[in-house]
Amino acid sequence: MLPQDCDVVVVGAGNAAMCAALSAREQGARVIVLERAPEGEAGGNTRFTAGAIRFAYDGVDDLRALMPDLSEEEIARTDFGQYTAEQFFDDMARVTENRADPDLVELLVRHSKPTMMWLRGKGFRFTPIYGRQAFKVDDRFKFWGGLTVEAWGGGPGLVEAHRKAAARNDIRIFHQARASALLHDDDGIHGVEVRYRGKTCSVRSRAVVLASGGFESNPEWRTRYLGPGWDLAKVRGTRFNTGDGIRMALDAGAAPRGNWSGCHAVGWDRNAPEFGDLAVGDGFQKHSYPFGIMINANGERFVDEGADFRNYTYAKYGAVILRQPGQFAWQIFDRKVTHLLRDEYRIKQVTRVQADSLEALVGRLDDVNPAQALATIAAYNAAVRTDIPFNPNVKDGRRTEGLSQPKSNWANTLDSPPFEAYAVSCGITFTFGGLRITNDAQVVDTDGAVMPGLYAAGELVGGLFYFNYPGGTGLMSGAVFGRIAGTSAGRAARRA
Ligand SMILES: Cc1cc2nc3c(=O)[nH]c(=O)nc-3n(C[C@H](O)[C@H](O)[C@H](O)COP(=O)(O)OP(=O)(O)OC[C@H]3O[C@@H](n4cnc5c(N)ncnc54)[C@H](O)[C@@H]3O)c2cc1C
Repeated sequence: MLPQDCDVVVVGAGNAAMCAALSAREQGARVIVLERAPEGEAGGNTRFTAGAIRFAYDGVDDLRALMPDLSEEEIARTDFGQYTAEQFFDDMARVTENRADPDLVELLVRHSKPTMMWLRGKGFRFTPIYGRQAFKVDDRFKFWGGLTVEAWGGGPGLVEAHRKAAARNDIRIFHQARASALLHDDDGIHGVEVRYRGKTCSVRSRAVVLASGGFESNPEWRTRYLGPGWDLAKVRGTRFNTGDGIRMALDAGAAPRGNWSGCHAVGWDRNAPEFGDLAVGDGFQKHSYPFGIMINANGERFVDEGADFRNYTYAKYGAVILRQPGQFAWQIFDRKVTHLLRDEYRIKQVTRVQADSLEALVGRLDDVNPAQALATIAAYNAAVRTDIPFNPNVKDGRRTEGLSQPKSNWANTLDSPPFEAYAVSCGITFTFGGLRITNDAQVVDTDGAVMPGLYAAGELVGGLFYFNYPGGTGLMSGAVFGRIAGTSAGRAARRA
């Protein structure tokens, strides 16, 4: 049975929601969590992640504090560098083309390290992302791109850690509990209407935290807000993020905010299913394109694959792939770089062809003009500045010259068999548009007033991401704003 009332109702059971639940509980509030998914599919997009999480750190001592398991031997063979608050600010400003709300970014960046330590204090564990975010060059690993740490056990490990932390803190999670409307009047928000295991009922509360994700799994909203063609994208994660929380808040008078026509979307296996598959997790993504080239159905390159570290390009290149004829592309590599390909290239469910000559390879690329593909590769090979040394750990400046579509870094000729190609389409991760919040994560209405009793965190907050996104920021923003929302909601509930 669902309780009929409590202090704080949290809607959703992903990372943002569970951080909100924990922090509301710290304030002494009685907290329940409503999760639309059945238990086996719970945890939202959070569960599909690798758990990579971006936060500002000043050096290895900060990492030691977060990961006491880090051995002296690991430290000796690794250049962890630092990722300062200033670098995090710069990354947010650059990739969002200076659109990100400065107040939200300030909170995200300044609270990132303390929030990681807060999670650590609640029993969460983290580990360095060797392999994906650091390559071994001259016997030493070097981390790049501001992304150094992942949750222990990846996304599933993070969700499990949240489940355990909730149990330790007397927070009950109700599955198959789909919030459908906010109970509200002139005095504010007083709870939610819920469909729980097929029956509609109400839970009254002093505060509600909405953390039920974006609208990426709703093809009708995708087409309406992201534009024509987005109905054809594949969904990388949960099928349950259909925009309910956003709709409920808008219906109650909340203000929309942010990049409603924008989203995070990546290159994703062309034959992946309509929604994410928990058995595969993020394995359908194909993020090693900086080391190869991508060609479309016309046999042409269409993007600078080496414009930046993949952390700063992958989230916008899904949209570029969606715009190609047939909404697909092939990524092509040769033997010189296949050892650098991420582990997702070696999964069973991969759309891959291989050949010992380029002529044979282009003949195997489904739906591609082979003659043009061959001509494109020849022109690309001729344009590579082979005099500049290749180094995957830095932006090496090894580029093409004279092409209308340049490649700015990591340009290697395609001339060493065997050649490999991987077919990708567009996989949408989450949407950028959402609700307007204050610095206390209170939801604001269309007249600019706070809505008493209503808080929001995670994907459904607007104003943070525009056009693009620095990898690993989704979990961090969920944790930071979830924690803030829970604290505010818990305090408000105590006052009420
Ligand atoms: C394949 C993949 C890989 C990713 N990798 C990373 C990564 O490594 N690092 C990173 O930072 N980010 C990554 N992301 C993005 C990251 O998952 C999100 O930014 C983050 O998890 C969002 O957290 P959230 O709590 O806002 O939403 P979610 O985790 O999606 O949680 C939303 C929850 O709300 C529930 N819900 C929806 N509607 C209702 C309703 N009406 N009532 C009740 N519950 C409802 C859903 O079931 C879900 O549990 C990845 C995403 C995907 C899909």
